[in-house]
Amino acid sequence: MDFGKIAATFVNLDTKEAVRIWRHTRRHPAEGEDMITFYEKLPDDEIFRIQRVNVDLKPCDLPGPPVEIQICENCGEDITDSRHVVKDGKILCKACAGGSYYTVLE
Ligand SMILES: [Zn+2]
Repeated sequence: MDFGKIAATFVNLDTKEAVRIWRHTRRHPAEGEDMITFYEKLPDDEIFRIQRVNVDLKPCDLPGPPVEIQICENCGEDITDSRHVVKDGKILCKACAGGSYYTVLE
């Protein structure tokens, strides 16, 4: 999930238990200092924070082939795994619904 953060969430798909781990330390190696050697010296609990979390995973969130494919009624492109938008009763991709990150030049 792109939230602009650097973290990892691990989910046990059998038990649904999950943990989220993120870098906590603000310390950095000095100029020219080996990064791996620097971090190896720090205790794990200074580098990372770990929290138990609940993740509402849907089948379409899992890696692998798409579970669902819709077709945008405006541009005709495929939209996978529930990323479509229903606007005024039409199935649209997010770009056609007004949320595009790009503009077409030609
Ligand atoms: Zn579209």
